[in-house]
Order: sequence, then structure tokens, then C-alpha cells
Amino acid sequence: MSDNNVKEIEDLIKIISKLPGLGPKSAKRIVLKLIKNREDLIKPLTNSLAQVYKNVISCKVCGNLKSKNSNCICSNKNYDQICVVENIADMWVIENTGIYKGHYHILGGTLPTLEGKKENGLLVSSLIDRVKNNSVKEVILATSATIEGQTTAHYIQDSLKETKVKISKLAQGLPVGGEIEFLDDGTLFSAFKNRGPVVSD
Ligand SMILES: [Zn+2]
Repeated sequence: MSDNNVKEIEDLIKIISKLPGLGPKSAKRIVLKLIKNREDLIKPLTNSLAQVYKNVISCKVCGNLKSKNSNCICSNKNYDQICVVENIADMWVIENTGIYKGHYHILGGTLPTLEGKKENGLLVSSLIDRVKNNSVKEVILATSATIEGQTTAHYIQDSLKETKVKISKLAQGLPVGGEIEFLDDGTLFSAFKNRGPVVSD
């Protein structure tokens, strides 16, 4: 940073460089761009951030983001498939492939592998409720091919046992250790297409 530091600018650069994919250098460029375009960028950005801060929340049922002012997509009971993912980024990459048009359930993370199977705030019980209360015919487990992802998938599978719903899992073609978010569309597409029923043990 330069010697004639302006505190407001420094603070903003610090915040922006915390965003994914941005380091201090690009944060600086962004801040300069913003300052040059106060009316066109800073003003609408400020408004938009305030709106998101005030109105966007996680749905307690499906884990998706929703606006406080409208119903979540999961309140529409008319679906028969649920795709279970770890986080929203994973949902977006699957949506991107275009192979799946159904509903999602966002767990909000994975189980820790060592300290037993504690749910740790994962949205599991609401998944069971969704399966029980709707005419869900298939739950697709799309957790990552990491140890955590697979432990979580097992746990979900166990939790859903009593519902007798059909549970399937992405095909084994997923590279071991592969996180959904970072897979290319082609790999994900075929893993999804070739998903198979999970074998209970
Ligand atoms: Zn919801």
C-alpha cells in the first residue's frame, strides 16, 4: 500500500481481499474502480448489499438461500426427487450441468470423520421430514468423494432407512477426493447420469 494511506480505503481493501479468488492486488483495483464510479457503482452496491444483508436468509427446511419476503422453493410440495449436496456452490455446479432439474437439499457441510457421527448443525432431520411429508421417490446423494463427503453420505443413508425411499449415489467415476464444486461439467454430468442405488449394509 502507498504511504499516503486513507483509512477508509485501506479498510475496504482489507474486506474485499477476503473474498474468494481475490488478493490485495485485485482488491485494490476493485476499490479504485469503485471510487472512480461512485454514483454508478458504490451507490447501487451499497443498496444491494444492505438488501441482501437484511432480506436474504437460509431456509431452515432445505438450506437454500431465500428472501425473507417470499416463500422458499421447497414450500412447493410438488416434487419427487431431492438431490442432497454439501453446500450451495455444489448445487450451482450441478445446476450448471443441466442434468438435474429437481429440488435440492443443502446440508450445510459434512460430518467430522473422527469424533463419531455428530450432526453438527447439518440439516438432516428436516431432510427426513421432507421425504416423509412429500411424495419423494428418490434421494440422490451428491456429496463429495472425500472421506468427509462419504461419511456424510453413509450417515444420511442410515438416517433415511426407515423412510424406505430409494437412495442413489453419484457414479463411482468421481475421482477419489474430488469435491463436487471443482469437478468439470462433463465428469459431473456422467456421474449424475450413471448414478446407482446405494447398497445397504
Ligand atoms: Zn427451503
